[in-house]
Amino acid sequence: MSAARPPEGARAAVTMAAAWASAVQRGLERLDAQLLLAHLLGLPAARARAWLLAHDTDPLAPAVASRYAELVERRLDGVPLAYLVGEKEFYGLRLAVSPEVLVPRPDTETLVAWAVELAQPLPAPRLADLGTGSGAIALALKHLLPHAEVTATDLSPAALAVARGNGERLGLPVRWRQGCWWEALAGEADEQHYDVVASNPPYIAERDPHLAALRHEPLQALASGPLGLDALRQIVAGAPDHLTDGGWLLFEHGHEQADDVQALLRKAGFVDVSTRVDLAGRPRCTGGRWQVSR
Ligand code: GLN
Repeated sequence: MSAARPPEGARAAVTMAAAWASAVQRGLERLDAQLLLAHLLGLPAARARAWLLAHDTDPLAPAVASRYAELVERRLDGVPLAYLVGEKEFYGLRLAVSPEVLVPRPDTETLVAWAVELAQPLPAPRLADLGTGSGAIALALKHLLPHAEVTATDLSPAALAVARGNGERLGLPVRWRQGCWWEALAGEADEQHYDVVASNPPYIAERDPHLAALRHEPLQALASGPLGLDALRQIVAGAPDHLTDGGWLLFEHGHEQADDVQALLRKAGFVDVSTRVDLAGRPRCTGGRWQVSR
């Protein structure tokens, strides 16, 4: 019999390091493995890695270890980390997210930066974000342009509840409206025209195999018609009734859709149509200006 037998009770406990090492061995990214553990331990994400490294030989309570194992399995099944930890950072804002909303992507920061550039010089800009999801675009705009009036829409009441909650938590007042694209804004007492409208609508073709990897996110926020252009078309079609003279319509779109979106805008009469690239250098946003007086 060995004398080096561990004391009773300690045998079942795994250390922090062993828990995340086994998650990594199962195929998880090291950072994800650590962030999931930090989430379960209630550690703020910013300090999580340093804390975990300093405590890597600490034992993990069996109950936490088994919840951790469950989260690891869900992450391995492709559930976005943001849903598992319940939040995602966008433009420096911490947003609550749930499976009712698309996880905000860094790609979308290009759209926000463009809208800010256009609205910044205006004394009292009116902005709208169509299909807001978690509220990411609208809230980033309100955060960066406190003097702007920002309106955001979504077809999904559940998504709008997430967005509204984010606005309240962050102390950023946005007008939240439920409905399909421009319809959400119809019938307002103050029939509004907007200086800058930004939208990240669903733009993936409905049979695109890429959708399989996104299966945990709301399909309604991702796919739109056989070419992924249906929502973009609907928004372009309604835009002239809702833009100020000289107002801008800006879209995020698929990295192979810039030509199609440029053509849609030009055909509808938009001028100054151009495209911007995302952080990875892919054509990701296209916009144009609506001009009544020429
Ligand atoms: N950018 C997302 C993706 O391809 C799609 C977002 C969207 O359809 N609006 O993963």
